[in-house]
Amino acid sequence: SKNQYQTSSISRVRVIVRVRPFLPQEITSRNGNPSPCISPMGEEFDEVTVLLKDQESSRNECYKLDGFYGHVDDNVISIYEREVKPLIPGIFQGYNATVFAYGATGSGKTYTMQGSDQLPGLMRLAMTEVLSMCDYTKSTIAVSYYEIYLDKCYDLLEPKEKEVMVWSDKDKEIHLKGLSQFEVNSMLEFHEILSPALRRRKVAHTGLNDVSSRSHGVLVINITTPSHDSAQNVVTGKLNLIDLAGNEDNRRTCNEGLRLQESAKINQSLFVLSNVIYALNNKKPRVPYRESKLTRILQDSLGGTSRALMVACLNPGEYQESVYTVSLAARSR
Ligand code: ADP
Ligand code: MG
Repeated sequence: SKNQYQTSSISRVRVIVRVRPFLPQEITSRNGNPSPCISPMGEEFDEVTVLLKDQESSRNECYKLDGFYGHVDDNVISIYEREVKPLIPGIFQGYNATVFAYGATGSGKTYTMQGSDQLPGLMRLAMTEVLSMCDYTKSTIAVSYYEIYLDKCYDLLEPKEKEVMVWSDKDKEIHLKGLSQFEVNSMLEFHEILSPALRRRKVAHTGLNDVSSRSHGVLVINITTPSHDSAQNVVTGKLNLIDLAGNEDNRRTCNEGLRLQESAKINQSLFVLSNVIYALNNKKPRVPYRESKLTRILQDSLGGTSRALMVACLNPGEYQESVYTVSLAARSR
């Protein structure tokens, strides 16, 4: 049982922002010298104030968050070291943790989670750490990777598309029926398992391109370790690394048909997610986990003794879009 490891303190969900740099073509189209519309204003005890400023008008807004990363010292390693690495030892002790990348399409969510060929993202950095901390004579590491699209859950580690049913047992524990898990013992194995799944995510279900921006992609790193006090019991902990669907502002995008249906579902699930985080951070008696598929599945990894981090990703050239993302992120704190 996990109870022996539980502590009385409920940790807050941390909410940080990451501003990506301007891309080469964005610098060119802005005549070579753009300045980002988001900057940190001041740092108080464990809290930063973020200033958003419109380049065209004089509008500006401020929000308080738990951390600011980017632009000048853009480096995923610093986010990893300060925000994600501290979550990992707990996974070996049976605690769950979740990292979300949140933001509009094009703001750097996938880059933050997956990285590029040269620079690993949070997924590879976390996996490297988990593998290096693992005592293979004791613990087992296994991964799952699934996608939530239009409130349905699909296994991305299966060569053929497979919908996974979500159900809760009599103890209200959530299960993903038949979701595959692959054991991982090295980064090479991890790469071999994940690469085809990442390609699959791009075209699954609709045949349309880049479904990835309209679905939530969830990588789960499961660690199973025998518990200290009994030879029979095992302790399981998991780390969820989630590339959320783009939180487009429907008032600004003119969606219809399937697009509208998709964005309605996406907005609803992101809204519920922010309500869940708000309820947890403000110790509300009722946490609305059941109001979306995503939060229902994550019920055992958000709140209680679980720890979570929300990385709000921002495009430095998009004022309105950034205000939309930061205001929702700040609201959930
Ligand atoms: P999203 O997943 O939020 O839609 P992406 O991760 O695909 O956005 O990023 C959009 C573009 O910006 C991509 O071309 C990506 O390579 C680039 N990009 C994002 N973040 C960074 C970064 N920190 N440094 C350099 N390029 C980045
Ligand atoms: Mg993406």
